[in-house]
Amino acid sequence: MADTSSAVASPGTKGYEPDVPITTSPILDWPPRPLASLLYLLKPVMLPYGALWAAVAALVWNFLTPAMERMTNLHPGWIVEIYLRNALMVIVVAGTLHLALYRKRAQQQRYKYNRQWMSTTNDEFLWTNQTRDNMFWSLVSGVTIWTAYESLTMWFYANGWVATVEWSSAWLYLSVLTVGVYVWSVIHFYLNHRLLHVGWFYDHAHYLHHRNVNTGPWTGISMHPLEHVIYFSLFVLWWVVPAHPFIVILCGLFQGAAPAVSHAGFERFELGRREGRTAPGADYFHHLHHRYFECNYGNRPVPIDKLFGTFHDGTPEAHARMRQRMKSRRVT
Ligand SMILES: [Zn+2]
Ligand SMILES: [Zn+2]
Repeated sequence: MADTSSAVASPGTKGYEPDVPITTSPILDWPPRPLASLLYLLKPVMLPYGALWAAVAALVWNFLTPAMERMTNLHPGWIVEIYLRNALMVIVVAGTLHLALYRKRAQQQRYKYNRQWMSTTNDEFLWTNQTRDNMFWSLVSGVTIWTAYESLTMWFYANGWVATVEWSSAWLYLSVLTVGVYVWSVIHFYLNHRLLHVGWFYDHAHYLHHRNVNTGPWTGISMHPLEHVIYFSLFVLWWVVPAHPFIVILCGLFQGAAPAVSHAGFERFELGRREGRTAPGADYFHHLHHRYFECNYGNRPVPIDKLFGTFHDGTPEAHARMRQRMKSRRVT
């Protein structure tokens, strides 16, 4: 069993608490609720952020991806180009959020889950600085392994070793796959995350991400290289399911850059000076995983945690259930 003693939030650090219970998608409800499930995929999955990531992926495919002819050979030139554009996207998303929320403290503690700021004196982090440590693991290991998977997939496509489909002939199929990227990402995340909480994998890899009880934008993909290899393995699906380079790019973008938003530490982002103008921010569901460790391994769009009894909806009742579960595990 993994040693989790240092991975639990200390009392007195709790800040903003959103409305609970946390709601989830009805996609796994019984009896099935197909219409409600489809509406959930529309909002909040696609609107606003899902559509935004898809728009960015479309731009990246059209303007920031090497030509297919160049990618027939595994030449370092185009792979470095993909690395630099992926790094740039993480720097823009995580860097902007970090600058606004943690350097300028533009909204102070409003909507902030944890009252503490990023640590600058903790020996657990490289250079005792949480932000610099998180940047290091994200850019040196995270973006590199993401780029490796993406480049391999593109190389397969360029050589015709893996089937691709075109928007002109299969727009409906590719539209479904576009939404499917988010569904697949959550299912894959639940499965690999459960594995990462098994003793050896936790002790050798996942502990690194969990040093961040209090998370910030740069925490998103701040992980051990072994975890990156497992976490970004979702690309392998596109080696067997016919898709399109846009889908592959969207997959990487959602897995690589979107966690900067979900780990930002603020439930909502204030927009401008006018009171009440806010956008959805970090993910309280996953924040509870960082705070309590033994719950919420997946995420809301496909709430597999509900099936396996590990769902913490933020209420005192759910908390009592989690403690009971942990107690009975220790006894057995
Ligand atoms: Zn975990
Ligand atoms: Zn996390």
